[in-house]
Amino acid sequence: MGRLAETEGLTDIQEEILKTVRQFVDEKVIPVAQELEHADEYPTEIVEGLKELGIFGLMIPEEYGGLGESLLTYALCVEEIARGWMSVSGVINTHFIVAYMLMQHGTEEQKQKYLPKMATGEVRGAFSMSEPGLGSDVSAVSTKATKQADGSYEITGQKMWLTNGGSSTLVAVLTKTDEGAESVYKNMTTFLVEKTPGFGETAQGVTVPGKIDKMGYKGIDTTEMIFEGHKISADQILGGTPGKGFFQMMDGVEVGRVNVAARACGLAIRGFELGIAYAQQRQTFGKKIAEHQAILFRLAEMGTKVEVSHNMMVRAARLKDTGKRMDVEAGMAKMVASEYANEVVEDSFRIHGGYGYSKEYEIERIMREVKFMLIGEGTSDIQKMIIGRSLLKDYKS
Ligand SMILES: Cc1cc2nc3c(=O)[nH]c(=O)nc-3n(C[C@H](O)[C@H](O)[C@H](O)COP(=O)(O)OP(=O)(O)OC[C@H]3O[C@@H](n4cnc5c(N)ncnc54)[C@H](O)[C@@H]3O)c2cc1C
Repeated sequence: MGRLAETEGLTDIQEEILKTVRQFVDEKVIPVAQELEHADEYPTEIVEGLKELGIFGLMIPEEYGGLGESLLTYALCVEEIARGWMSVSGVINTHFIVAYMLMQHGTEEQKQKYLPKMATGEVRGAFSMSEPGLGSDVSAVSTKATKQADGSYEITGQKMWLTNGGSSTLVAVLTKTDEGAESVYKNMTTFLVEKTPGFGETAQGVTVPGKIDKMGYKGIDTTEMIFEGHKISADQILGGTPGKGFFQMMDGVEVGRVNVAARACGLAIRGFELGIAYAQQRQTFGKKIAEHQAILFRLAEMGTKVEVSHNMMVRAARLKDTGKRMDVEAGMAKMVASEYANEVVEDSFRIHGGYGYSKEYEIERIMREVKFMLIGEGTSDIQKMIIGRSLLKDYKS
């Protein structure tokens, strides 16, 4: 990648992991991404390769069978993977968030039960907050978990936009429960719902109707999930105590923002690589287009945006790894990286001229994929709300 998106101060182990992942992406992902994406085909072989590399357990502590690596290592791996094909980073994203939520909030029993199998990729995670009527406004969750006389719960409602909704076997589901609290935020509970992979009735009272047809982010499944009286034990409440679901989910989404920033960085890097290569091949008016100042300036801006995004993402990840507060930094990194990725990829598309519109060129796929960065883990408007409110508190006059 030349001099851009370098990370200073990595350990030898981090360098080694990144080198391995980069090689895997160059050899096994980039050559097949275009074909699989156009066919909307699940990247089974790639996922098996990621399992072998230990990517599913990258951040899971060693005592539970993972590699015990930092959020920074994870984010840098995600950046590499998204550079190859964004959908593949989506396979591990929700898995990582569920594992993280278990690590932070699960009971010891829940950790023992799920984390070792998540580390190998045998159990695969999805997380579900969104519903047909809500995405940004998580407080409006209407899927209800009702306590039964025997202490168990029954879940009824409809969930929407589950990344890995079909392929997952463990779904962290945010529900509304009646804890008698005045605040709506304290009447929400996260359940760990077990299901079989696939579509149709995947567990008693849990139906996954099919894949949602999307403009990009193809290959992996995004689904609805319908709960009709799904019976679930109170043992499956994340952390064992009801009423904490909203805060657990927000914690998961916060690290998820670093993850989306890393994916956006990966897409921007690839957009830049493709653009700068094409600009040195294509000739117009007797010279390479890179020699026209308009293209040269565009490349300079693209490179600068790659650099800014990467550094903000790395800083947010490092803050989290040192246990410091990073809500503002994660929101800023996510907003800047996703907006810049869209600009960089569009600039690369422009550099490609008419060929960028052809399905033979990688930039066509990336143009569609990068749009999702503006939405996932909270839109830019929502990031601005989080950043702005937090800054007002910090700078209260
Ligand atoms: C491919 C894909 C995969 C997804 N995967 C998952 C998943 O795995 N799990 C999951 O739970 N969800 C998932 N989502 C859902 C995603 O998180 C939401 O789509 C996203 O949060 C936006 O919510 P919404 O679509 O309901 O838009 P809305 O909340 O309806 O927002 C619509 C518009 O209004 C703006 N807006 C909303 N409120 C405000 C405000 N207060 N101030 C200013 N502007 C505002 C938004 O920025 C946006 O522009 C996925 C979505 C997609 C498309």
